[in-house]
Amino acid sequence: MSAPPLSFPAPPPPTPEFGADALIVCESLVRIYQSGPIEVQALQGLDLIVDSGEMVAVVGASGSGKSTLLSILAGIDAPTAGRARVDKWDLLGMSRTDRVRYRRKAVGFVRQQTASNLVPYLTARQMVDLPMTAARVATGVRRERSLELLRMLGVGDCADRRPGQLSGGQQQRVAIAVALANEPRVLFADEPTGELDTATSVEVFGAMRDVNRELGVTVVVVTHDPSVSGQVERTVAIRDGRTSSEVLRRTATADNGDTHVIAEEYAVMDRAGRVQIPRDYREALALTRRVRLALEPDHVTIRPDA
Ligand code: ADP
Ligand code: MG
Repeated sequence: MSAPPLSFPAPPPPTPEFGADALIVCESLVRIYQSGPIEVQALQGLDLIVDSGEMVAVVGASGSGKSTLLSILAGIDAPTAGRARVDKWDLLGMSRTDRVRYRRKAVGFVRQQTASNLVPYLTARQMVDLPMTAARVATGVRRERSLELLRMLGVGDCADRRPGQLSGGQQQRVAIAVALANEPRVLFADEPTGELDTATSVEVFGAMRDVNRELGVTVVVVTHDPSVSGQVERTVAIRDGRTSSEVLRRTATADNGDTHVIAEEYAVMDRAGRVQIPRDYREALALTRRVRLALEPDHVTIRPDA
């Protein structure tokens, strides 16, 4: 005798996909590293949305999961769970061939250690040429494009120098040119200014802003230096493998015509409605395990449970 037919409840009405219009979407991203008996949760359900054409800084203390996030987005590492999409590429379900294509064409990546981005025995021009050779770009196009990129990054005069003959800032500009060789839509840079002094670091950020504005490349740059939020319009903070807050900068015009920059900090609410209250707020009001929430006409209050 056959089993009675199962009846399924009606499916819930479709909700719009999280970040459907965004270029980069991470949703509840988890990355667990297993080293022997120890499990490290480098990402613990991270949500992030980046729109096409944005330049976003991701800041966080050492060990907060920044490099893990970028190596997943760059297609070098795979997440344990969650969803990650860049453009039309699904970073979880991608085949090996697609992964190679993605890394070669879709995204550019500047790694954390300055030296690992460059080849010691090649000139700047040869290094920018290399990824284009791998992508079978015609010789004439390659020559023109590598010079154009080096010029745009302010290192046109360094085209025939090898890494040893370049300053730290010049090396990073060349590394950015190399990352942009195959015209990716997105540039990922992991602490590109970590080994540079402040003035040089500001210059390298300026070069990335030019790339963002002039080439329309979406830029995601990771750093442990919170002061970079003064140099980008949007800064996302990650703490313990999760996005915790955002700072947005915008230019406001006063009645007398003066313009000034306003930076506002926002807490990030995840898909389940969770918000992290900063430690100094919690300490100031002794907020501990339980708090009182109240809905007001245009805001929500949080009070200590006393
Ligand atoms: P950040 O770049 O913000 O300094 P990482 O993404 O490098 O942080 O690391 C996040 C956490 O994951 C850290 O606790 C780190 O020790 C751990 N981790 C990173 N890579 C590995 C790995 N390959 N094996 C084990 N643990 C790792
Ligand atoms: Mg790192």
